[in-house]
Amino acid sequence: MKFGTKVIHAGIEPDPSTGAIMTPIYQTSTYVQNAPGDHKGYEYARTKNPTRTVLEKSLAALENGKHGICFSSGLAAMDAIMKMLKPGDEVLSTNDLYGGSYRLITKVYEPFGLKGRFVNMQDASAIEKQITKNTKLIWVETPTNPMLSIIDIKKICQIAKKKKVMVCVDNTFASPYLQNPLDLGADMVLHSATKYIGGHSDVILGAVVVKTKKLADQLYFIQNATGAVPGPQDCFLTLRGIKTLHVRVEQACRNAKRIAKYLSKHPKVGKVYYPGFKDHPNHDVASAQMRNYGAMVSFDFEKDDFKTATKVLKNTHLFALAESLGGVESLIGHPATMTHASIPRKERMKVGLTDSLIRLSIGIEDVEDLINDLEQAFEVI
Ligand SMILES: *Cc1c(COP(=O)(O)O)cnc(C)c1O
Repeated sequence: MKFGTKVIHAGIEPDPSTGAIMTPIYQTSTYVQNAPGDHKGYEYARTKNPTRTVLEKSLAALENGKHGICFSSGLAAMDAIMKMLKPGDEVLSTNDLYGGSYRLITKVYEPFGLKGRFVNMQDASAIEKQITKNTKLIWVETPTNPMLSIIDIKKICQIAKKKKVMVCVDNTFASPYLQNPLDLGADMVLHSATKYIGGHSDVILGAVVVKTKKLADQLYFIQNATGAVPGPQDCFLTLRGIKTLHVRVEQACRNAKRIAKYLSKHPKVGKVYYPGFKDHPNHDVASAQMRNYGAMVSFDFEKDDFKTATKVLKNTHLFALAESLGGVESLIGHPATMTHASIPRKERMKVGLTDSLIRLSIGIEDVEDLINDLEQAFEVI
């Protein structure tokens, strides 16, 4: 089944009790049993809910996995993965990663004896010597947030397999439409479905997709034992978002390409970060592992000046100044004070995340209107 058919049909069947074509919102906490232990597969809604079951099957299919495990947020999904580790274990992670992921490792898990190490993975072959006997998990985000660095998933997975280390790829920025890490050798894929998968900025939800029953069982155990499950309404909204995932991401990528080109020619703009540019580091890796280059574009000014950035951030009208990404509407953000405020300035500066860096999440509006909006905002600087 191809992707555009999968989003509509995979894992989704008419509701068995009524024939409803759309999966109903099973707003229930428990299920009646005929006799002790004699039930229809559902006992209590933390453990299992039919709306969630359909979403989990759909997500597993989109990532070419076998099992999907859903959580109340992307970070709750990551938290479940961290709970598979033990004190003394080490997570080797990309250094330019989502601020909340960095915070979870360093502020929540390091006090429990887990160790996080953050390295540049753009040269994938260099990670081999970074792996120690304590390294149990390699955490990859690609494209990264907000520098849009590209990491070679296949190469990382080959090295990890040799060293018997698990790999999880945070695929939030690409979405399953553009990139499928399990096909490239990853053990787990993480999504903040809050972003492209939900796609309408109306739900917070996370998921992990895996290939093996062993990992799935561990994650279902943690899902049930710790209880960070999404409600049925959120599962329904996510299922609804999935149906147009390919159409939305395709249009957003098209817009992003035009906007990246426009920015790169603008006299007031400095560096533009967009994996679709031939001179973007690892552009060839992006071409090989992604179907398109995504809809996130970051840019800087010649001078690292917070005031200039602030003027632009305050003066767009269609681009809304907000955290998050991946929705149908375009957003503009300032990573240094917003999404990445929890990362120390010294760490940020190492990867080029300056005080004037601006990140765009390109939506599906008419691209001429988006360009005009940026143009009038640049007039004030
Ligand atoms: C948003 C985001 C997360 C966290 O997801 P939530 O649903 O907000 O908890 C994790 N990784 C990336 C790359 C994100 O953009």
